[in-house]
Formats: sequence, structure tokens, C-alpha cells
Amino acid sequence: MPELPILNAEWHLKNKMPKNPTMDQRIAWHLEHIKHCRCRGLSPKIIEELKKRKIKF
Ligand SMILES: [Zn+2]
Repeated sequence: MPELPILNAEWHLKNKMPKNPTMDQRIAWHLEHIKHCRCRGLSPKIIEELKKRKIKF
């Protein structure tokens, strides 16, 4: 697997977080984000939500 860039600016430009995102949108965004970029990890809040929803990450 190729190493991910620390900040994948191109991905961020194409994948903006919606304004006032719902929790579903935030989760979907973060799940995609961790596949493409390492500029930040999952926040504890997101991890909690993923566990609640039994989503593997
Ligand atoms: Zn990023």
C-alpha cells in the first residue's frame, strides 16, 4: 500500500465537510478521510459514534 501523505490537500479540496453536518455526514466524511489523508486522526467523539453504530474503522 502506498504511504498516505500527511496532508492530502487535493482530497480536502474535493471533499469539503458540509456546513452544519449531521452526525451521519460527519461519520461518512471521517471514514473517507482516514483512507486518504493523515492530517488528523479520528476524534474521541467520532470514535464513540462509530462504536455505537458498530462501524469498523
Ligand atoms: Zn486531512
